[in-house]
Amino acid sequence: MIHTRYLPADRPDTAAIAADIIKNGGLVAIPTETVYGLGANGLDEAAVAKIFEAKGRPQDNPLILHICGPEQIELFCHHIPQRAYDLAEAFWPGPLTMVLPAKERVPRRTTGGLDTVAVRCPDHALARQIIRLAGVPIAAPSANISGKPSTTTARHVLQDHDGKIDAVVDGGPCRVGVESTIVDLTEERPRLLRPGGIGPEELIAVLGDLVVDRAVTGELDPAQVVKAPGMKYRHYAPQEPVVIVSGSREKAAAYIRRHFQPGDRVLCFEEELPLYRDCAPLSYGREADVNTLSAGLFAALRELDDPTVSQVYARCPTGGGVAYAVQNRLKKAAAFHIIDAEEEP
Ligand code: AMP
Ligand code: MG
Repeated sequence: MIHTRYLPADRPDTAAIAADIIKNGGLVAIPTETVYGLGANGLDEAAVAKIFEAKGRPQDNPLILHICGPEQIELFCHHIPQRAYDLAEAFWPGPLTMVLPAKERVPRRTTGGLDTVAVRCPDHALARQIIRLAGVPIAAPSANISGKPSTTTARHVLQDHDGKIDAVVDGGPCRVGVESTIVDLTEERPRLLRPGGIGPEELIAVLGDLVVDRAVTGELDPAQVVKAPGMKYRHYAPQEPVVIVSGSREKAAAYIRRHFQPGDRVLCFEEELPLYRDCAPLSYGREADVNTLSAGLFAALRELDDPTVSQVYARCPTGGGVAYAVQNRLKKAAAFHIIDAEEEP
């Protein structure tokens, strides 16, 4: 056990202390607009190894390098296409990660053994200040134990890592609440590897083209060459099975109420709570405001990660933008188990 320092955002020396720990090869959980990241010096193999160890993360699951701005892309990447600059111009700082060819100086431990590296400039002033003061890119995956729902508050980080990391910076709850959108720019056509805060339509508006990877749309074929290594592991899931029930509010409620057993829970929209009064409902946000759903999803999945829960029936938003990312995370948590209530007798 080590002592995990708690660093509130309003403490004047928080960024300096966090940056010092990073410079000295330690681990600091930092807030970003997407989720909390478990950060270390991305150029220091030993520091990066500690991230994998703390998370229990498979070695071939690469990390994202967090940088201060587009001018830093060239420090870590080469053969950078114009469209990378176009995306940075449109969406940075923000919840967009780009995969580009990695320079030699980026340790292969950081890239999970790949010759490509993921880079992102977060839209969080304190995070960027820490990166700037550290003087190195911060490698940071989501600060959850591997396989668990991601961390969107400092309290979640401490649930998973108290006594295992050097510090946590508390910047309050994350605004977006789901991890960044990831676009691979190393092939002829740009490829969406993970949906996030930037929707596919917004990417197409800049790129004019986008291939959606199979890892996003359905279960992975294990024989397939995996472009987004993180996608092959069970993800974001509470310990009990999750099943998504799609269809109209009324049809879904009728289906769920018919099948509900004691010990089950319902994860639904705030507007639907009255329909599930005796079905242990938990709301994760308002269907009418999808940003509340993305911001609330992981905290709700954590609350449902409880040995007394036997099954979760989940309601999922439709549509593009960040709703597309919420659908993706819920489908992963449900291992793509979806029941269409409209088709049920
Ligand atoms: P996390 O933010 O914890 O979900 O982890 C970062 C994710 O970024 C990984 O799981 C991968 O899916 C993706 N990623 C990072 N680097 C690369 C890369 N070089 N190529 C493809 N995907 C990457
Ligand atoms: Mg993660």
